[in-house]
Amino acid sequence: SAKDAGRGRQAFYQPAMREAADQRRRLEQDLNEALARGQLSVLYQPIVSSKTYEVEAYEALLRWKHPEHGFISPEIFIPIAEDAGLINRIGNWVLRSACETAMQWPEHVKLAVNLSSLQVESDGLAATVISALSASGLPAARLELEVTESVFLRHGDSTKNMLERLRAIGVELALDDFGTGYSSLGYLHRADFAKIKIDRTFVRAAVDGWQEGVAVIEAIVSLANSLGMATTAEGIESEFERDEMVRLGCTQLQGYYFGRPARHERAVRQADKAKFAADTENMKYVDTR
Ligand code: C2E
Ligand code: MG
Ligand code: MG
Ligand code: MG
Repeated sequence: SAKDAGRGRQAFYQPAMREAADQRRRLEQDLNEALARGQLSVLYQPIVSSKTYEVEAYEALLRWKHPEHGFISPEIFIPIAEDAGLINRIGNWVLRSACETAMQWPEHVKLAVNLSSLQVESDGLAATVISALSASGLPAARLELEVTESVFLRHGDSTKNMLERLRAIGVELALDDFGTGYSSLGYLHRADFAKIKIDRTFVRAAVDGWQEGVAVIEAIVSLANSLGMATTAEGIESEFERDEMVRLGCTQLQGYYFGRPARHERAVRQADKAKFAADTENMKYVDTR
């Protein structure tokens, strides 16, 4: 019974956990006001062609500057937003503001936006995407939506439906953090993915000389090629890593080596092809957070 479950839980309830729970509740309350108080912002990180090193897209990455705690990682506050029922409101805001920003970039540069699994489960997502596109004027074909394998863990059919509705709008889908989750190859067929993003743990493993890491990337790349999907290697931090991922056949590269997530003014300048030459020295710039 619920009573038994409650009693069971109480046995483990230590002061440290209570403290953590209190802190989380406070963060939930703070997050509820963060949007209205202008504490949320979006940074943009370049994704480059592995052939020319030119920017093909920017990924929108959310930041929360908490008045006391400073910057809090999205790895921490996105799950809080999900629990607190705030993820749709925040996700809508990210979509709208990122689509507006992307309108300032050259037309060939795409925008990638992360979606939480809860957003994909929400029936209003398609309407939200349509309205973000029409409010900004961004063509659907310039928007890529990134989801992780976790979208497939619940509500199989409604997820599949929503991903199809998004494709019908004309946006592209990317499977993010591939290799970290269940990595069932079957997931690749559950939706019309244009791209697989290979998680940086595999990139790191491969360049650290872990041969299985190399084998995993080779397998993902060859599978993606045969399914007509692009591959983005995440977390490229050095020239060596860049060269390895080019050698392994990844079609796009992303990581601190090419650019840290930065405020959009800087991203706009970087997206200017003339300034973003294929000279790697010019690609490094400091984070302005
Ligand atoms: P992600 O979508 O896999 O984004 C890539 C993460 O790797 C980003 O972390 C990025 O800053 C980081 N990264 C990029 N290049 C490098 C590198 O060379 N080295 C290392 N060590 N890290 C690199 P970030 O910005 O902290 O975001 C973490 C995660 O939070 C994202 O992972 C994404 O899952 C989630 N997230 C971020 N923004 C949003 C959002 O607007 N909505 C949702 N639902 N999730 C978001
Ligand atoms: Mg992502
Ligand atoms: Mg990722
Ligand atoms: Mg991630």
